[in-house]
Amino acid sequence: MRILDIRETAIPLKSTLKNSSFDFTEMTTSVVAVITDVVREGRPVAGFAFNSTGRYACGAQMRARFIPRILAAEPQSLLDATGENIEPAKVLAVMLQREKSGGHSERSIAIGTIEVALWDAVAKIAGKPLHRLIAERYNGGKVAERVFCYVGGGWYLPGQTIRDLQDEMLRHLDAGYTMVKMKVGGLPLADDVRRVEAVKLVLGDRAALAVDANAKFQRDEALAYARALSAFGLRWFEEPCDPLDFALLSEIAGVYAPPLATGENLYSTQDVENLVRFGGLKPERRDVIQVDPPQAYGIVQYAATVAMLERHGWPRTALFPHGGNQMSLAIAGGFGLGGAESYPGVFGDFGGFADDARVENGHLRLSDRPGIGFEGQAGLYRIMRELTA
Ligand code: MG
Repeated sequence: MRILDIRETAIPLKSTLKNSSFDFTEMTTSVVAVITDVVREGRPVAGFAFNSTGRYACGAQMRARFIPRILAAEPQSLLDATGENIEPAKVLAVMLQREKSGGHSERSIAIGTIEVALWDAVAKIAGKPLHRLIAERYNGGKVAERVFCYVGGGWYLPGQTIRDLQDEMLRHLDAGYTMVKMKVGGLPLADDVRRVEAVKLVLGDRAALAVDANAKFQRDEALAYARALSAFGLRWFEEPCDPLDFALLSEIAGVYAPPLATGENLYSTQDVENLVRFGGLKPERRDVIQVDPPQAYGIVQYAATVAMLERHGWPRTALFPHGGNQMSLAIAGGFGLGGAESYPGVFGDFGGFADDARVENGHLRLSDRPGIGFEGQAGLYRIMRELTA
């Protein structure tokens, strides 16, 4: 078998959303198709992925370096021991040829997106859902049936009132979620505290609440928010500052009643190791790590990150991959992680899960479709299929 072609295109997200730090009006994502010569049900197997949420399309690096390296490799050298399927670790090594150490984010998203699309193809060739394949390789064969899922919501919208925000949260409860997250840092502290109080009021004891500052704050503001938010019994306070400012994170951890969460903007195993060594986050505080695998070199590298964290005493239940999509859902289910994020009603075709997915008591049932399962998500799958025409 061989990889016939790898194609990518940039698609605009067309979103009016805003977090504390930026708006999404220009946001794009790279969609990737890996086309193989393996035929299933009368047509060539293609694997798909996109580069998750919040980082722009990165097709230039893919087209200039990573796709040509894969297509130039001897096809046999990319296969597993059976010779009947692709070995993603070997393809990852080929993509990393002639890449200098460090400086991860310039390439980790492009490489990770191609790598996750490879896994979609590998799982389809094996005739298995991706979460099952990951569980067999990286979780001792423990195959999850469902995954805890929380809403990454509470965005700042033009003209939004506190009542609108409360109504949004009530819709999430009605949809079956038992945990929601809202943005903070987009308004002055006193106004944000009023928003948090208003949401806590409508949630009562029906759902847990987390907040997300999107790495907006410098030291004084971060510490002021940490002190003000400590009283609310939040599930977590996410990205209170730059995720690479381990000294400040550690200082915040000393002020804020835990847990904290961060990691969606860390792109290498080494960065995450530095975070847990120096950032003040600890498993016993129920802190949370949110690496987004398609943006951080993909699933093979994520397995290395999980193994590193386990050596530092972190349970997999402390890991919640960023990105409310079917890739993070399959990864959370496959590795046996704490849960996945969900973006109901935002990010158009790029947010959410299979069209028939239903949330029950805060959990999503994993599908039996081979691969990641994009075939069950009509709008997104239409975009992906166009790449194979
Ligand atoms: Mg976040």
